[in-house]
This record gives sequence, C-alpha cells and structure tokens, in this order.
Amino acid sequence: MATTSKQQAQETTGRSGPRCPACWGIKRRRAQALESDDLHTAVAMTVAMGRHLRAAHS
Ligand SMILES: [Zn+2]
Repeated sequence: MATTSKQQAQETTGRSGPRCPACWGIKRRRAQALESDDLHTAVAMTVAMGRHLRAAHS
C-alpha cells in the first residue's frame, strides 16, 4: 500500500563509506562544540558517537 522510499546519502568519494545521518549530525555537533571551546558538549558527542556506533553499526 504505502511506498516509502528511504533517502540515502550517496557519496562517491572512495571507500570511506557513506555515513548515516546520525553519524553526520554527531560529528558536526562535535566539531562545532570544539570550535566554540565547548568541551562538555564535545565530550558528550564523543560518547554519543560511541554509543551510536555500537547500537547502529556493530
Ligand atoms: Zn551512524
């Protein structure tokens, strides 16, 4: 009945692999936090990344 087409970020930059939106968001947030000297958030994002990797990419 319902046809849902998932949008997939397709990067054709070698084998580094297309990152999922969650990875992207976390990475970007962490970079922004580091840029604004927000170590607390940066560390939190690192932890979140680790958790996400285990949960979604293990
Ligand atoms: Zn991910």
